[in-house]
Amino acid sequence: MGIASINPTTGEVMKTFDPLTDKELATKLDKAAAAFVIHRETSFAYRAERMIKAAEILEAEKEQFGRMMSLEMGKPIQSAIDETVKSAWACRYYAEHAERFLADETVETSANRSYIRYQPLGPILAIMPWNYPFWQVIRFVAPALMAGNVGLLKHASNVPQSALAVEDVFLRAGFAEGVFQTLLIGAAKVEGILADPRIAAATLTGSEGAGVQVGISAAKAIKKVVLELGGSDPYIVMKSANFAEAVATAVKARVANNGQSCIAAKRFIVEESIADRFEEEFVARMEALKVGDPLDRTTELGPLASTSAVDDLHRDVQKSVDAGARLLTGGKPIPGKGSFYPPTVLTDIPRDSPAYSEEFFGPVATIFRVKDVEEAIHIANDTRFGLGASVWTQDEAERDHLIQELEAGMVFVNKMVASDPRVPFGGVKQSGFGRELGPFGIREFTNVKTVWIE
Ligand code: NAP
Repeated sequence: MGIASINPTTGEVMKTFDPLTDKELATKLDKAAAAFVIHRETSFAYRAERMIKAAEILEAEKEQFGRMMSLEMGKPIQSAIDETVKSAWACRYYAEHAERFLADETVETSANRSYIRYQPLGPILAIMPWNYPFWQVIRFVAPALMAGNVGLLKHASNVPQSALAVEDVFLRAGFAEGVFQTLLIGAAKVEGILADPRIAAATLTGSEGAGVQVGISAAKAIKKVVLELGGSDPYIVMKSANFAEAVATAVKARVANNGQSCIAAKRFIVEESIADRFEEEFVARMEALKVGDPLDRTTELGPLASTSAVDDLHRDVQKSVDAGARLLTGGKPIPGKGSFYPPTVLTDIPRDSPAYSEEFFGPVATIFRVKDVEEAIHIANDTRFGLGASVWTQDEAERDHLIQELEAGMVFVNKMVASDPRVPFGGVKQSGFGRELGPFGIREFTNVKTVWIE
């Protein structure tokens, strides 16, 4: 169904939206181009004042925004509220640090003076997924606007209310009209927008398939693109780990956001000598999760975002079981209203099954047993993805070896992988390229201008 909010807990269509006409779209692109001419000349102090105001609005209205997210895509209400607060943090972080991150950098050469200047590129198109309806957008828009760019958001078609609410936050914060706009459009419009001379660059967070298409569109127009794509993150537990903490965090790392997070731990790689105990405790904790209405504050696992998400996930679980994987719990959609899938655990994973090679976007964990750290590294890297990795060990040599050898954009030791405005976020291999957040994130959409004065 086109652009619509459909409550995944009940299946109820809450609101539908007409996509922009071509004429309306053209007007928005004109507005963005005109806004850039003015916004790029504003001072960091001017932008920071408004960015802090945006943070204040997010914090003040976290309950309403949280409820909106839970209703549109099903995440548990407290995590939706926490997402709003974290979004405010990213606004404050870039309000405070953007000027320093983008200050001229002197380079010692034979010139009289040589330096690097970071300048904004122009209107940037952001194509975003529904799983963190506020956070994904704000981790793009806060650095983009602070750098002097302007933003256009093509959000996922199932979270239009969140998309419009974020646009409204930045307008109310005092950013001029045209500096940040939501475009209610389908995916088919993206290629044409990227080809438009008014657009300077694009960023996509989403699936590999969308990454390929947006990458092709950007290449045809020779425009910069950042791709934040899927992941099948390993979660490695060695025998030296703090076992209790490792197993408790493992469950959180798998089911956060109802299991629909690119950086969720998806493959649990456990040293043989502790694997029986890990499997037993992990399965017991997964089975104990309270599944239900995300607006109920005691719910730990809400619905998947759509019925098609349940169908896709279940198809891959079923194929894996047919190929020989052993189901330890769950494994069948929960009947009745809403798109619910139970906590599910698979082990004895055949190499030719989806459980080995695909991203499971839902509360399905796979457990692998390994004899030593070398085998753990082999399994962890034996994937086309390379987003995050979490490793649990108290052994320093083992820790350093894992940090060095894991093919991932982020390695977290004795902690689950999480995004944080202060550190870069992104992947290698088919998890994409480019970085968001930290100083690297704000420089992605700048002209790194070399200045040489003889
Ligand atoms: P998706 O289908 O790729 O959708 C993401 C966005 O891309 C939506 O706005 C979608 O619009 C748009 N889109 C889809 N196909 C497109 C195309 N051919 N051309 C242009 N735009 C297109 O992603 P999803 O399956 O909903 O989201 C989950 C995926 O995102 C997972 O793989 C997850 O790992 C990944 N993800 C990655 C990160 C990261 O930072 N690396 C973070 C979160 C999620 P419509 O909704 O209109 O189709």
